[in-house]
Amino acid sequence: MADRIEKSEAEWRRTLTVEQFQVCRKGGTERAFTGKYWNTKTRGTYRCACCGNPLFSSETKYDSGTGWPSFWAPIAEGAVRMEEDNSFFMRRVEVLCARCDAHLGHVFPDGPAPTGARFCMNSVSLELVADDDNKGLGT
Ligand code: FE
Repeated sequence: MADRIEKSEAEWRRTLTVEQFQVCRKGGTERAFTGKYWNTKTRGTYRCACCGNPLFSSETKYDSGTGWPSFWAPIAEGAVRMEEDNSFFMRRVEVLCARCDAHLGHVFPDGPAPTGARFCMNSVSLELVADDDNKGLGT
């Protein structure tokens, strides 16, 4: 990641919604089946809601049945970074935006081929930019 983005908590509060701040900057989780992208099939690129960094492509999105948008791989190496998360008495791997450290969700080893990974993301951490060829299909 060439251009890291670092802002103070107060700065993030100014640019994000209350829910975005809670999830992205405080490690919260949106409730399943409530986010705007869990069932989205629009083709496009999912960018970081905080900094615009491209994170996931719709080409790796699949229906995990969990109620959260799920992907089997990030859009590119270095787009996200992983960190061990031992909160809530669980051993999980947290997924963060490599550019601004936004909390995105967690990755689990029960995803589909070819990677076997399930990147379980919060819709509120993402912003879908639809490809030109499917504008008008809605999200
Ligand atoms: Fe970011």
